[in-house]
Amino acid sequence: MSNHFDAIVIGAGFSGIYMTYKLHQDGFTVKTLEKAAGVGGVWNVARYPGAHCDSESHCYNFMFSEELYRKWAWSKRFAPQEEILRYLNFAADELDVKKQMQFNTEVSSAKWDEEKTQWQILTSEGEEFTATYLISGVGCLSTSNIPNFEGRDNFAGESYHTGAWPHTPVDLKGKRIGVIGTGSSGVQSIPMIAQEAAELYVFQRTPQFTSPARNRTITEEENAQLKADYAGIRERIVASYAGYPYVRSTKSAVGTPEEERLAMLEATWEKGGLSFGSTFNDIGINPNSNDIVSEFIRSKIRETVKNPETVESLLPNYYYTTKRPIIDTNYHETYNKEHVTLIDLKEQPIVRITKSGIQTAEKEYSLDIIVYATGYDAMTGTLLKLNIIGRDGVTLKEKWADGAKVETYLGLGVSGFPNFFTITGPQSPSVLTNVPASIEQHVEWISDCLQYLKMNQIKTIEPTEEAEQQWSKQCMDIANSTLYTKTDSWYTGSNIEGKTRGFLIYLGGLNSYRQICSDIAGNGYEGYQLKTTEAIK
Ligand code: NAP
Repeated sequence: MSNHFDAIVIGAGFSGIYMTYKLHQDGFTVKTLEKAAGVGGVWNVARYPGAHCDSESHCYNFMFSEELYRKWAWSKRFAPQEEILRYLNFAADELDVKKQMQFNTEVSSAKWDEEKTQWQILTSEGEEFTATYLISGVGCLSTSNIPNFEGRDNFAGESYHTGAWPHTPVDLKGKRIGVIGTGSSGVQSIPMIAQEAAELYVFQRTPQFTSPARNRTITEEENAQLKADYAGIRERIVASYAGYPYVRSTKSAVGTPEEERLAMLEATWEKGGLSFGSTFNDIGINPNSNDIVSEFIRSKIRETVKNPETVESLLPNYYYTTKRPIIDTNYHETYNKEHVTLIDLKEQPIVRITKSGIQTAEKEYSLDIIVYATGYDAMTGTLLKLNIIGRDGVTLKEKWADGAKVETYLGLGVSGFPNFFTITGPQSPSVLTNVPASIEQHVEWISDCLQYLKMNQIKTIEPTEEAEQQWSKQCMDIANSTLYTKTDSWYTGSNIEGKTRGFLIYLGGLNSYRQICSDIAGNGYEGYQLKTTEAIK
């Protein structure tokens, strides 16, 4: 059997499933390589207790097919990991894409062959594939970050990273458990772990803003309404700034009288979900507006947490939303439990991991289990691990100077890497949107592009360096006009030791981005170099 395909897709999460389907539908031969044993991407591996999606389930799914949308009904406003994984299996089966997928197959390198104008892809298992197009669907948050604490391997108990949780049950009952990290994964898992643990120690470096999820069951009646409104929901998603079917606030926090402002904040707090962060339209750009909302959340934390020392340590002091906003279920309430202790790492940093637990500057905490809720090498980590080698033997790592100078065109392609596409790549709207909405837009744009190339007998497509530089500058200029770049976060890469600070997300909005991408395509793929077979000869 030939191992040559029109396209090799890497990853079988939302991106890989839809890309595989589109390519197959469009008559391209496609093979999708996935490291894990099944579809699901991050939802197949981040199985930690309490793992939920923070986008509302009715819009955290494929919207391109009304039939698919109507066939699936979510049980909860915010779906748990296992239900999302079931959904992705359902979607892959309905779209009949699993036969184009090869699981348990990790890509170890992909090299551009200039003479044959194709990619040569090698796997860790020693298999070789060739393909005209290489499409990455590896996601933005798929390489776990475990900080290099001294003595990490000496721990005699069990340790787990939230993003690589075992597929078999972990017995937490009656155990002494330490959780390091209080991002989304920590905040979701801590209340669940507290229900099982005999003693729970939370090692917190930065306190986080979180607002209530207010998760609940979706009734049959609501489901029927959501199904009936398919066209409306889809239309609103497509028109929206962030890929959600909600109308953006038009009110400024500073510009709204105090009484009205408070009433609005209380109302969105009560409503729950990520829309709390959009109560006003200027939280991300105006420090004074941000302070108002930040202080509102701090007041809620003060109301909730009883221990005065603990509450002080839990009050965040960065600009709200400049770290990924979190929604929670009983997170701050958990600190009122007798057996839960917050360890403020600003006061007593971790010195080392010992055989029996975690040693801070003050004392040693004896533990049976350490949970690393320490996040991901986001945006570029997984792409760089693929060992992609472009024209003239230049690797993506070299091109991006080990992350020091990441430049892409639209977050969809990189100069020097012909026929290579990245779904939700760095410098696209990606993680600052409802990600499935961004994925659909990218997959459809890539599909249209490949059809255009086929119709026009174009052999290779590649961004020009100039277009790439302009796009990267535009991304950075927009980011610098907001408060996002003022905070250390995984958005800026500052969570990873040695990673250069930047901002690899296009913040101009998914709606504007859609327009830009479609104008570029409409203008014959402006900013790209297209070469026909004749030109290559
Ligand atoms: P994260 O937001 O990066 O949080 C990592 C946590 O670990 C932070 O509290 C961080 O502290 C801490 N940490 C990192 N290195 C440390 C060190 N050396 N010492 C002590 N603490 C350290 O990671 P995450 O919680 O896994 O979430 C990542 C992203 O995944 C989220 O923002 C979200 O986009 C996505 N996610 C989504 C959902 C969902 O609901 N859909 C659920 C989970 C995750 P600092 O803040 O000081 O760096």
